[in-house]
Amino acid sequence: MVAKSGMAVVGLENRRNSWCEKSMDILEFEGIRFRLARRRVRRARIEFSLPQPLLVVPLRARPEEVLRSNRESIHSRYVRMCEKWRKAAQLELLDRNQEQIHRLAAIYLQRYTRMLGVERPQLTWRRMTSRWGTCSSKGVIRLNRFLRHLPEPLVAYVVFHETLHLVNMRHDRHFRLSVAQVFPNYREVDRQLELYGIRMRHPDLGTVLVNM
Ligand SMILES: [Zn+2]
Repeated sequence: MVAKSGMAVVGLENRRNSWCEKSMDILEFEGIRFRLARRRVRRARIEFSLPQPLLVVPLRARPEEVLRSNRESIHSRYVRMCEKWRKAAQLELLDRNQEQIHRLAAIYLQRYTRMLGVERPQLTWRRMTSRWGTCSSKGVIRLNRFLRHLPEPLVAYVVFHETLHLVNMRHDRHFRLSVAQVFPNYREVDRQLELYGIRMRHPDLGTVLVNM
């Protein structure tokens, strides 16, 4: 489950950027501050990541022109991202200990392996920044330790997703249909997971937003 889109990968925003981040220029455009990166790319792109949106432009491009010609979409995307960041900052994080989250995950793992008629897999825990869980081709499920902070229905959803991979490794239509049968509200759950993902990667989100 990668954190970006739909089912497969349940939702994190763009990756943070590279080792050269500190030397980047800052560009201000109509009240939005961008980090500017010149790279060997064909097309300009904007990543709405924190602490500042990142504008990537081809080496010879004029960044101001790129911004001006995409003015409207920039503002609407920025407003949407700010809304997400604000919501992520307001999320309440639960404080289960390791034993509690292990027990909770085990309960759901048992429920879903029975439901799907599969053997109970090996379950391991890791600290991860871009995934909530993974399922290897050998059938080992690995879960993100940060799940201990998430509401129970979201934990259940992630466990179901990975358990379902024991039956189907792909994120195809069948996979999505199976998810929708057990979690008819999966779109909302995906949105929630995306927000928790933002929060996970930015523990200082409140401060970041104040300083933007
Ligand atoms: Zn998956």
